[in-house]
Amino acid sequence: MSNAFLKVRDLRVHFPTDDGLVKAVDGLTFDLVKGKTLGIVGESGSGKSVTSLAIMGLHRGSRARVSGEILLDGQDLVTVSDEELRSLRGRKMAMIFQDPLSAMHPYYTIGTQLTEAIQVHEKVTKAAARNTAIDMLGRVGIPNPQRRIDQYPHEFSGGMRQRAMIAMALINNPELLIADEPTTALDVTVQAQILDLMRGLQDEFGSAIIMITHDLGVVAEIADDVLVMYGGKCVEQSGLDDAFHRPDHPYTWGLLTSMPRLDRVKSERLIPVAGNPPSLINLPPGCAFHPRCTFQEFAYQDCAAVVPELAESYPGHLSRCHIAAAKRGEIFTEQIAPRL
Ligand code: SF4
Repeated sequence: MSNAFLKVRDLRVHFPTDDGLVKAVDGLTFDLVKGKTLGIVGESGSGKSVTSLAIMGLHRGSRARVSGEILLDGQDLVTVSDEELRSLRGRKMAMIFQDPLSAMHPYYTIGTQLTEAIQVHEKVTKAAARNTAIDMLGRVGIPNPQRRIDQYPHEFSGGMRQRAMIAMALINNPELLIADEPTTALDVTVQAQILDLMRGLQDEFGSAIIMITHDLGVVAEIADDVLVMYGGKCVEQSGLDDAFHRPDHPYTWGLLTSMPRLDRVKSERLIPVAGNPPSLINLPPGCAFHPRCTFQEFAYQDCAAVVPELAESYPGHLSRCHIAAAKRGEIFTEQIAPRL
């Protein structure tokens, strides 16, 4: 039995629309233990953000059909009551959103929102909560936090709002922190500070972290394990080292060879993954990646007709591809590795 703090089993998030059923997440399974960070990587529309919203229970009340299991410390978040879910948010799990405005109330000062978030979970005086809030604002890099705490979200610049929201997510030392592209809008210095802060939270409280991003550089900085999503499914899952040094899926090869690197010779052109992410209403048959895959000639099955299963290519490394694992290893060594 796995001792994972978060166990996701066959998670499906489907949205009925007038044009058909959108299978935004379709059969996702993974574990996350305390003190570890899972990086979930993929292009927009791959299902990574929908997954995080499902864990937080934020599809409730929408048209989404959520099925499968999301066990947080043994409690199934798919079936808990709305009330239980609300009490879990904050201390047990918290989320940093892409868009700070969606997470903050425009009518209340930053300080009011932070101190209330503390007092919901802890019996402390208002003054003590305010001091904690000021301290946290300082830790996320907000200058002059004693003054800024009394301002409203609209008085903050975009980057400052992002940091205030990060403070809000971290304020109760959540056991599970989900960060959805948390640093995209920030400059590199602040980005590094925020990643440091998250690492600090993990060291101090043993929190489990899910980092959702399209940026493999961020993953390399912070993740222990990597899960790559494509068309609502996991296509590859492994430890961090394997993800960068022994990647095993043609889509991951594409992501890695299109990643900018400081040590790359300037004249070398980055080759993006050709084509566009698939429409989730109308996923290509067979392997959803087949219209963009340049390695189908090596497959032992018809990639355009048969959906590949997620299978272990070698211990601890799962991948969803019709090319035999040994052949993929060969292609990686001969064709991909020299380009990384
Ligand atoms: Fe490419 Fe076929 Fe493998 Fe899909 S199953 S990644 S199309 S080779």
